Amino acid sequence: MTEGKVIYQEKCVIEAKNNEGKLYSREISFTVGELSRKEVSGKKIIALETEFKNGLKIEKETLAVSDLKYVRDYFLKKLTAAIDLVHPEKRVKITFPQGNKYLKMRRAYCQNCHKRIKEFYGFYEGRVEKCPHCARPTVLKRTQ
Ligand SMILES: [Zn+2]
Repeated sequence: MTEGKVIYQEKCVIEAKNNEGKLYSREISFTVGELSRKEVSGKKIIALETEFKNGLKIEKETLAVSDLKYVRDYFLKKLTAAIDLVHPEKRVKITFPQGNKYLKMRRAYCQNCHKRIKEFYGFYEGRVEKCPHCARPTVLKRTQ
């Protein structure tokens, strides 16, 4: 755990198949502790200690942010990178704790041919993919 007061914690479980076809699951968690908070020439600076756990691997980092919303963006970036390490065909399920908005699947449509591309998790929004219908690149964007 972190030394500072825990202000943010998120986790998810990835279920996938290994090369032998056996099912395994790996927990990914992200914990943030606040070390200090100060104001420098009118700007808020929050010093944080983060702990990112991917299975047995643990990464600790300290960083300074002006707004805590960057912490969530940082986690989503790391989480996406961790998920990408598991080949898409080997992924079985990604589970977030209940009430997490990233759990919701969204439908994406191609911006060129307007056909449905796929369903994606919220944190994949903004990613560019090749459309399976017209083969042109398109951005994953949520639809209401
Ligand atoms: Zn298309």
